[in-house]
Amino acid sequence: MIFDTHAHYDDSQFDTDREELLASMPEHGIGTIVNASAAVDSWQRVLELTEKYPFMYGMIGVHPDEVGMLDEEKFAEMEELLKRDKIAAVGEIGLDYYWDNESHDVQKLWFIRQLELARKIGLPVNIHSREAAADTMDILKQYGQGMKAIIHCYSYSKEMAEEYVRMGYLIGIGGVVTFKNARKLKEVVQAIPMTHIVLETDCPYLAPEPNRGKRNSSVNLHDVAAAIAELKGISTEEVIRVTEENARRFYGL
Ligand SMILES: [Zn+2]
Repeated sequence: MIFDTHAHYDDSQFDTDREELLASMPEHGIGTIVNASAAVDSWQRVLELTEKYPFMYGMIGVHPDEVGMLDEEKFAEMEELLKRDKIAAVGEIGLDYYWDNESHDVQKLWFIRQLELARKIGLPVNIHSREAAADTMDILKQYGQGMKAIIHCYSYSKEMAEEYVRMGYLIGIGGVVTFKNARKLKEVVQAIPMTHIVLETDCPYLAPEPNRGKRNSSVNLHDVAAAIAELKGISTEEVIRVTEENARRFYGL
């Protein structure tokens, strides 16, 4: 069954039908969902989701746009929450120079602190990186060696993806791969081995074709798997099977 490695079902866009939608996941062939944390105020909602749905796991972390909210007290709380049973990773963490909500120094500081915390606790990480390719690679080379990481919503070059694969990291592929103008990402998918690809929605964002622009959900991952299958010359079922295996191994589930 499909494994969604990165979703945001705590987002208010799901407030109208969250229960109904999540209850329908198994009948749509969605086997497992890992819900990321974006901000400190999402932590509690993420924990509640993981407690309510047997097939949901969570990440605790702070997105680079939101790290201004972090301080030592919150960071200590984060460490405690990361020890909960159904928390499977630290995330999402990284650098975002597109929105540039926080200074680069502040973003780097908390990215490194959260990486070090993940290593200390022994959890994998989910990396968010937007228009910050070189700094992200530098920090991961220095602080992320030997760790388990998914580069979520991968948006950089084929060469850099191959470098991440050599570092043992996985590449998260979502709705963008179905877009007509996503030539670069299609090349990435063709260049890297299936053993290093996982499926993700980043829902409610980034719905694949033919639902581009609408609210996304894990159900649409069938379309992402089909796009990868076409690029790889294998069946959609094979893509779903291998990416599920990869994700289970990664999260230790
Ligand atoms: Zn996300």
